[in-house]
Amino acid sequence: MKQPVSILPPQDVIQVLERLEAAGHQAWCVGGCVRDSLLGKTPSDWDVATSALPQETKECFAGQRLVEVGIAHGTVALVGTTGHPIEITTFRADGEYSDGRHPDSVAFSRRLEDDLSRRDFTVNAMAYHPVRGLRDMFGGQEDLARGLLRCVGDPGRRFSEDALRILRCLRFSSQLGFAVDEGTRLALWNKGDLLLGLSRERVREELTKLLCGPQAEQVLREYGEVVFLVLPELSPMKGCAQETPYHCFDVWEHTLHALAHAPQEPSLKWAVLLHDTGKPGKKTYSPDGVAHFYGHPPESGKIARQVLERLRFSNRQREEIAALVDHHEDKLPLGEAHLKKLLGQYGQQFVRRLLDLMEADMSAKAPGIFQRRLPDVEESRRRVREILARGDCLTLKDMALDGGDLQAMGIPPGPRMGALLNRLLEAVWAGQVENDKEALKQFVLRLEGRRSL
Ligand code: ATP
Ligand code: MG
Repeated sequence: MKQPVSILPPQDVIQVLERLEAAGHQAWCVGGCVRDSLLGKTPSDWDVATSALPQETKECFAGQRLVEVGIAHGTVALVGTTGHPIEITTFRADGEYSDGRHPDSVAFSRRLEDDLSRRDFTVNAMAYHPVRGLRDMFGGQEDLARGLLRCVGDPGRRFSEDALRILRCLRFSSQLGFAVDEGTRLALWNKGDLLLGLSRERVREELTKLLCGPQAEQVLREYGEVVFLVLPELSPMKGCAQETPYHCFDVWEHTLHALAHAPQEPSLKWAVLLHDTGKPGKKTYSPDGVAHFYGHPPESGKIARQVLERLRFSNRQREEIAALVDHHEDKLPLGEAHLKKLLGQYGQQFVRRLLDLMEADMSAKAPGIFQRRLPDVEESRRRVREILARGDCLTLKDMALDGGDLQAMGIPPGPRMGALLNRLLEAVWAGQVENDKEALKQFVLRLEGRRSL
């Protein structure tokens, strides 16, 4: 017996369906919203597929705010007053594929069946209509119940058509905690090489979703070698043993355990993934056979920058993630001066993430380490709260002496003044001088080797 279906499209989505159908077209809710509803989750957005051609869709919603998201691919987004924009896409039947990513031609279709046939996995290939009910041509409901990802049609062919589906398979496995069906799994391994032809932005998006999924650890453990094809920098971590009293896993297993411990924030997850990439290249042994990884944080930072640049992360995100990696071994508990410097340079969110990274890192070391070291992370968090509550000087903006004051002291604007201001800020962070105008002026005089103005 099939479970009763409880799919409840929001009112504005129902209105979209009704409007299209009143004009003589067919319209269905499709894809992720149907899957998530059947799983008892609240869908993040509702996509509509319709027999109406893009121009006809536009005519149906004349006078309303429409955005042409991908008009060549048949997608129009309706921007409502509440909630997410609703994407309305004309039924499609894909043409021939040649570059492993984009169909050569997108043929619009009047048949829902064509549209469902070109979707990636059975659980993503269901349609729902409030009156006509569920349309499940490929056993999607059954696969949902079994927790299985299975390609629609022949997996090898589907991955050759569009290799992004390989990464989508892994990310859905991580997000939903689903296993991969045998045939799909074989094809995934066979077609992995095709990943190299993908757009790096798309790879980044799918990997980020994979990393933030609750089952990232398990998926990376099982399919690490597939991911290494797009992130070859990770591969030396696997099998890199850590013969030290602090570790019980090789670098890769350590990374996977740490990932599982880290909160689901993209920058943090990427930092965890990359934090020890420098270890294999920095491994040495002392005569007693103990392994050391001196200098690995900056090496990991270098590798992280390379990876993040290749995947076209924004400069801002790249620098944030790489700086997290650079600082992941800073001495705990972090001192006040150091914390002020980090807060001033990178902000509160960064420091919060750094401490989360450090916690995740120690959670994945030898038994007992976590319990022993966690209080140092907690102490650092407490210091951060104190610094912020006191409103301590963290940036040049907070400093009681500025460029104008220095000019009045006879120091002309220019690089020397800039360097001096930064030197003063460092001194304030370090507690060498109070954040007080007179005290700072005296400090400048001492620095400049002068007795008075
Ligand atoms: P999410 O909740 O993460 O958005 P989703 O299932 O909506 O999940 P999308 O990437 O938004 O995922 O794609 C929407 C739907 O479009 C999918 O459910 C699937 O049916 C189809 N789809 C997306 N990308 C592909 C692809 N590369 N090949 C085949 N079908 C695809
Ligand atoms: Mg979606």
